[in-house]
Formats: sequence, C-alpha cells, structure tokens
Amino acid sequence: MTGAQPLPGTAPLVLSADHELRPRPEPSPGCTPCAYRFRCLALDDDDTECGAESEPGTDPVRAQTWPFEHLRAHPEHTGFAEIVERPWVMWRGTRA
Ligand SMILES: [Zn+2]
Repeated sequence: MTGAQPLPGTAPLVLSADHELRPRPEPSPGCTPCAYRFRCLALDDDDTECGAESEPGTDPVRAQTWPFEHLRAHPEHTGFAEIVERPWVMWRGTRA
C-alpha cells in the first residue's frame, strides 16, 4: 500500500512526452511554501464584491481565523473564498 493520497487537484499531470507538472515538494531549497488567504465574497449594496482579503500565511488553520475577524466588523459578510497559492514545477522527464 502506498502512503497518503495527494490532495484533490494536486496529482502530477503529464500532458507531454518529456515533462511532468507536479506540486513542488516542501521543503526544498528555493521553494516558496504554500500560502493561504481568504477573500470576502459578500456583495455590497451596489452589487460589487467586498473583496477584502487576509494577509497570506503558511498555516492554513491560522488563515481560517480571518473570516471571523472580518465577520465581527461586517456581520452581513458571510461568504468567503479560500485562496491557496501552491508552487508547482515542470519536471523534465516523467516517472515510470
Ligand atoms: Zn467583506
């Protein structure tokens, strides 16, 4: 049996004969860690999106605290999007 399965949408992708697109392994020299943030999706009275965003951070659980802070200031803003910036790399060659 193999180890843990990759998160949905993070499995290596092969669309060419000589390259494979993979999530960049962490930690590795020069590798930017994943960054997590949230954006408010609530619509203002003029139907424009609030768009307020948290600062990006490397801890996905800590990032989830921002919507609560935003909700305290804007009780009617209850819709959010999680934004994950995951570094990927194009590897020459493919795994057998
Ligand atoms: Zn908002």
